[in-house]
Formats: sequence, C-alpha cells, structure tokens
Amino acid sequence: MADYSFNGGIVIKNPYPVSKVEIIQAPLPKKIVLPLQQLGGQAKPCVSVGDYVFTGQVVASTKGSFDVPIHASISGVVLSIDKQVIAHKSGLKSQCITIESDGKDKWLVNKNSGVDFLHYSKQALVEIIQKSGVIGLGGAGFPTHVKMSKVLDCHTLIINGTECEPGVMCDDALMQFHPRDIIRGVEILLHICGAKRAIIAIEDDKQSAYQALSMFNHNDRISINQVPTKYTSGAEKLLIKALLNVEISSGKFAVDEGVICQNIATTKAVFDAVINHKPLVSRIVTVTGDGVKPNNFEVRLGASFKHLISMASPNNKAHDYRMGGMMMGIDVASIDIPIGKTTTAIFVNNQAQKPIVQACIRCGQCSEVCPVGLLPQQLYWYAKSKSIEKALSYNLADCIECACCDYVCPSHIPLANYFSFAKALNKQQTREQDRINTARERFEFREYRLERNKLERAQMMANKKKSLKEKMANEHAQKQKITEAMQRVQQAKDKNDGTNI
Ligand code: SF4
Ligand code: SF4
Repeated sequence: MADYSFNGGIVIKNPYPVSKVEIIQAPLPKKIVLPLQQLGGQAKPCVSVGDYVFTGQVVASTKGSFDVPIHASISGVVLSIDKQVIAHKSGLKSQCITIESDGKDKWLVNKNSGVDFLHYSKQALVEIIQKSGVIGLGGAGFPTHVKMSKVLDCHTLIINGTECEPGVMCDDALMQFHPRDIIRGVEILLHICGAKRAIIAIEDDKQSAYQALSMFNHNDRISINQVPTKYTSGAEKLLIKALLNVEISSGKFAVDEGVICQNIATTKAVFDAVINHKPLVSRIVTVTGDGVKPNNFEVRLGASFKHLISMASPNNKAHDYRMGGMMMGIDVASIDIPIGKTTTAIFVNNQAQKPIVQACIRCGQCSEVCPVGLLPQQLYWYAKSKSIEKALSYNLADCIECACCDYVCPSHIPLANYFSFAKALNKQQTREQDRINTARERFEFREYRLERNKLERAQMMANKKKSLKEKMANEHAQKQKITEAMQRVQQAKDKNDGTNI
C-alpha cells in the first residue's frame, strides 16, 4: 500500500473513544436561530415576523452569485428578525431569523426527487447545489457551487474523508451509514467538474468506513485511498501533496492546479440536493469531551448547542465548551448559540486548571512537528515583538494554524494564537498602509490638479492677452488703412478741385 504520508504532524489518538460510532437523531428543537451573515455578505429576509414557514422554505436570499439562500430547518412561525449572539469567536451579535417550531415538521412539497443527474447540464447541477444552500461542511464554509464552477481543466477530484481534528467522528459516521449516497455524490461532482478520476481519502484507522464505501463503489474512476491517521492529514494542501505529489505553492489554490477538494459531508449534501432536491437543513455534529457521553447527532441547523449537548448525557460538573475541535476550534462562553452549517463538533470538557505558560527553552520540538516546515520558535519571537515584516520573511502566511507546535511545546506557549494574532495584525497594517497610500495618492493628485489648473489658467490668460493685442493691432491697422484711404480720396479730390479752377 502506498504511504501517502507527509512530513511533520502528530499522531493523537481519539481522547474520547466510543465503543460504537453512531448517528443519533436529535429531536426537533423548539426554536431555531438562523444567522443571516455569510462569507459574501448578509442575506435579506424574505419572510416577516408572524409568517408561517415550512421546513425547507427559503427564508432569506442573496442577490449575489457568491452566497446561498437560507432555508427554514423546521416548520413553525417566525418569532423575530433581530440581532442574536452567534457561534463566532468574536462573541458578537448578528442579524438572525428566529423560528418557533409547531412540532409538526411540515415540509415544502418537493416534486422533483429521484432525478437522473446525467440528464442535467453541469450549469443546472451547479444551480441546484446553490439553491439547496450547500456550502463546505468541513469547517471553512466556502460555497460549493462557486468552487465547482471556478475550476478549469480539472484532472482530479479529491473527497476528503479524513477527520479534520482528533476526536471528531462525524465524517466517519457518515461514511459508515451513508456510503451509497456518498459514492453517488462523488459521481455527481465528477460529472460537474469533468475530472478523469476521484480519490476518496480515509484515515487508516477508519476500517468500517473504508469497507462500507468499498462495498458500494463500482465506479472505475473512483478509488479509495487510506492515508496515515496523523493530524493534520486533512489539510487540503498537505492531502494533495500526499496523494498526488502536487505542490500547491504559497498564495495558490488547489483549483489553480486542476484539483478540487470536497469534504465527505459536503458530498452527501450534494447528493441530497441533486437526487432528492432536499435543501441543507441539518448536519451531523460530534458532541464529545470528558463532560458528556460522546457520539454523533443529526440535528437541525439553528438548534442551540444547549439542545444538542442535553442529548449527550452531560455530567453535573462545570464545563468548558469548545466549538470545532480540540486543536483548531474556538472556546465559546455560552451554549445558547445556534449550530451552523460548519459546526462539525462541540467539545464539552470538565473545567480543569490551565497549564502555566513558561519561557521558550529552544528545544526545537515545535519545528519537528510543523507540517508545513516552518520554524515556530522563530516566528514566535517575531510575533511576540510584533515584528511582522520579519515574521512574514519566515513564511508566517503559510502557517495553517494547526497548533501541532502548541501541542508538543513543553513550555505550553500558545504559539498558534500568536501566529493568528500576527496575521491579523499584518492584515490590519496592510489595510492601514493601503488607506495611507490612497490618502497620499489623493493628496498628490489634488496638488497636481491645482497646479495644472493654475498653469492652464495662466496659459489661458496669456492667450487671451495675446489675442486681444492682435485684435487691437488689427483694428489699429484697419483704422490706419481707412485713414490712409480717406486721405488718398481727399488728396485726389483736392487735386481735381485745383485742376477745375
Ligand atoms: S517547543 Fe516551545 S519551548 Fe521548544 S523551541 Fe518551540 S516554542 Fe520553544
Ligand atoms: S501552527 Fe503554524 S507554525 Fe505551528 S505547527 Fe501549525 S503550521 Fe506550523
């Protein structure tokens, strides 16, 4: 078997293993909160407070081609359209639509299920994916229809079935319980992007998922490759390098090299959208940690973290909550926040003493595990002293903030946080510099414009003066000619008068 490995990274066993990976259906929430903010901008509500909505009905839409519509994930009545705290590291409020459930889950009637996608044009399929609200469900949330329509000369489609973080099991569960739909989803994506082949990448400790997919895969263009169970094998560029030996250079994207990567859950959502014309109204979320009984739950989008955590038999201790994953996730202060399309996991851990941060001892362990070959200890010095130029010269921009360096650091330095901060500072400084440059350019142009106007005015005056002078000279010459002519006439007259005498 090929190795498909990469340098660096760390092997972290699932800290909260389960005896059986399941997908447990979470009951209908009493209320859902749907944030309107998307990557490209804010969606516009197309319902009003008091309206009755069906499950799957569009409740907010966008004008732009980048974003996707937002669908009601339950049936019920629109309770409010106002600002609510959302699942974001800022902890700030954002405009949301809140719907109260009628407990009936009445769906919008769908007449198009069971279609044969081969009869659809690629453009029509991309449109269906957009209208169904499908975005990347692996965590990034990039709109799937944009990625699918952007690629040119795609040669390989990669379906990323590696869990993004240790302890997260939602993709494993999907592959085990929905292998047929996933293979069909891969075929739809292949039809759209026109790639010759698709590779489904699965970590080698997910044997049940591997076998389930292999059993349903009868397509010669689709292969299923097992990659080492090593964090961060799911990072897109690393996965492409490991599978295809194609290097995606800094600042470039996979699509620039003719490769498209889609997540397993996104692939299943594409199947639901195209084959069943079912919009994205639910997702599988892993709830794990030492404060709960870990497993996966299928839950309606917009249900609260609290609703889902209550399904996972939480213990009575005080908890810390983390969204996304133990490595790259973010701590959240409240669990009265809605589950979104990119909520892969919720970590519920018993509160514990945080390790004390100590000085760097230059042990070099962080560089050994960095999967993109950076020097984290060096970057740390520059990030800490806000020497952003220096940090950039040590390829700060290539840091994927995977926190492998944090994990091994004996001094417990939160290195990835420093790098994230340094990147944000760089963005801010770049924006500030752009603002200063724009202001300077505008000032210089104003000065130039004033000087140009002054010169033009002076030239105009000189021209005017000259033409006035010429006019006066002409008039004078004309007058002179007339006077001379009159004198000649007078002289001739005088001469004639003399002759007659
Ligand atoms: S692992 Fe920590 S202590 Fe060791 S060199 Fe890196 S930053 Fe310093
Ligand atoms: S957080 Fe950045 S520097 Fe640290 S290991 Fe990951 S990529 Fe390397």
